[in-house]
Amino acid sequence: MTERSAILKESGGYSITGPVGVIILREGEVEYRTVRIEIQDGLIRELKPAGEEPEYYVTAGFINCHAHYVMDAGAGPFDKMIADAAGDPDNKIARAIQYGREMVKLGITYTCDKGPPGMCGAPIYRGIKEAVDAGESMANLKYSTWAMMADGGFGAPYGRVIHNLKEMEVALLESEKTGAEALKFIPESAYKAGTPHYRFMFPEDAFRWARQAAKEKNMVFAVHAKGVETIEMCIRESVDGIEHGIEAKPEHLRAFQENDIYLGPTMDGLLCRLEHAKETGRNAEAVEYDWETVCSMVKTASTLNNGRPFSNFLFASDAGSYATPHASLRELYQLRKNGFPPAAILEAATVNGAKCLKLWDRGTIETGKRADLIFWSTNPVEQSLEEWKHLEKHIAAVALNGKIVKIE
Ligand SMILES: [Zn+2]
Repeated sequence: MTERSAILKESGGYSITGPVGVIILREGEVEYRTVRIEIQDGLIRELKPAGEEPEYYVTAGFINCHAHYVMDAGAGPFDKMIADAAGDPDNKIARAIQYGREMVKLGITYTCDKGPPGMCGAPIYRGIKEAVDAGESMANLKYSTWAMMADGGFGAPYGRVIHNLKEMEVALLESEKTGAEALKFIPESAYKAGTPHYRFMFPEDAFRWARQAAKEKNMVFAVHAKGVETIEMCIRESVDGIEHGIEAKPEHLRAFQENDIYLGPTMDGLLCRLEHAKETGRNAEAVEYDWETVCSMVKTASTLNNGRPFSNFLFASDAGSYATPHASLRELYQLRKNGFPPAAILEAATVNGAKCLKLWDRGTIETGKRADLIFWSTNPVEQSLEEWKHLEKHIAAVALNGKIVKIE
């Protein structure tokens, strides 16, 4: 569990770091400030200017905006996954806690859970939240109790299938009642050969109504949108977050910037599917299309604004889903490998995640913010692409709620 290290020293009711170089990430630019960070009751109490050489570099904890705590990164049939989860929720909770601990060791201190397989999630999410509240050293979360799906669409019937507005109203009430702070939608078809590859097929009135209701209730409205039809619907409805977004064209990316819509490309998830398809020969056409398309979208995004990067990416890996590990920073490496600059990636993984998930106390290192911190032994902004392959080796320690949970 929690271990103290010399990185934080007790000092009469609060703790304090040695001189550290805070990496300030803003609009793709980076600045440094050498300070000592004072921490009290899990929050940053003060940043005291320091004159010495920094002992570590520090960023805020990473926010993975797309994870599935109730899924085990398996590639087996959904019916079995659902039967496992529904049949033994306590075992699922214990496994989720384990995943959450592994995530924190990589600096991932918060995540948005995009739903369980099937309808089994409510008691499991309750158990996970209780563990977080009891001080477990795991990544905290917001969750969507179910993934809302279109009849006959991708994922269906392994989520909450919505046929009409009335069902949507009930699903939203029950989401709130089960503690959901996010609503995840999968409104499009599975991949089809021929154009369009992906069709929007959710009842439109229910989608529009839910978007407005989520806004009023301050819930995160997140949409699986690979295809242009769904991407354009998301722009019209000004959603909070888009998942995958592989077919986004430059004009769509610009519209995301103008409308505060954030995009999680989930490169790690798509690459894991590709690797798995290559081993098994299953579903190869669809996963190859998705992988090539997402790589080209990220390359376009890297120089979108007259050579400057797209401002609204998220760290979103699809952790836990099909063959995709919970604790991994490969998403960040893949973004960089496809041309995205390191400071903008770190900004996506901290500042942007907090904005998209409406986490006003996270994402930056400032007085009053939560002391979820990554202590870097070297400056990650200046590390080479090769070093980003194992970025975690540069993490000396992670603080969660002001307590050190991982030491080199
Ligand atoms: Zn997912």
